[in-house]
Amino acid sequence: MRLGIMGGTFDPIHFGHLVTAEEALVQFNLDRVLFMPTGHPVLKKDERITPAEDRYLMTVVATATNPDFDVSRLEVDRPGLTFTVDTLLALHDEYGPATELFFITGADAVWEIVGWKDAAKVAGLATFIAATRPGYDLAAARNAHEAQATGFRIEYIAVPALAISSTDLRARISQRRAIRYLTPESVVAYIQKRGLYREAGQA
Ligand code: ATP
Ligand code: MG
Repeated sequence: MRLGIMGGTFDPIHFGHLVTAEEALVQFNLDRVLFMPTGHPVLKKDERITPAEDRYLMTVVATATNPDFDVSRLEVDRPGLTFTVDTLLALHDEYGPATELFFITGADAVWEIVGWKDAAKVAGLATFIAATRPGYDLAAARNAHEAQATGFRIEYIAVPALAISSTDLRARISQRRAIRYLTPESVVAYIQKRGLYREAGQA
């Protein structure tokens, strides 16, 4: 099996995440994509983030209509800070050696992972699929990677021009501006129902 893992804070999930996962599924012939909302992300430990249960449920409602997408509770249920290496080790154990793991992430986030202390351990556990946002210089990214010779298998994909970010969605909600068509209707409804992101401080 070829299993994609789409990691993210998903605070909130949006069409940028969904399109990226779908593009990776198709381009790399993956069998499924497992969305993995972070519990307490190391890289965002100083920022205020929405409770894990809300982020998890938004991810569930956003992916419910796609039979190839699943959502994992692995990281939201794990106490303490989230390290990608622990997640990849756990999935490796759970699925066994016959399953090849593809960790899908933004090109920005890939560079943060490559810089970690357990980087060498992570490198052997998965192929990294780095999604680039509009305006990203693919050739420069590949060259920089080759120059570093980290042992990471990183593949770059260009996703359709989507300048959507969770940061922008949170800012829009706190300013009472529309988020419709940037994330599925089900996510818009969930955010309204729970009154998320209404305070400017959350943006
Ligand atoms: P924030 O604005 O809070 O940083 P975000 O929109 O970047 O949120 P994350 O949950 O941090 O969302 O993203 C999860 C992963 O998806 C990251 O690797 C990120 O780079 C990637 N990603 C986010 N938005 C897009 C997009 N529009 N197109 C492609 N990849 C994206
Ligand atoms: Mg981000």
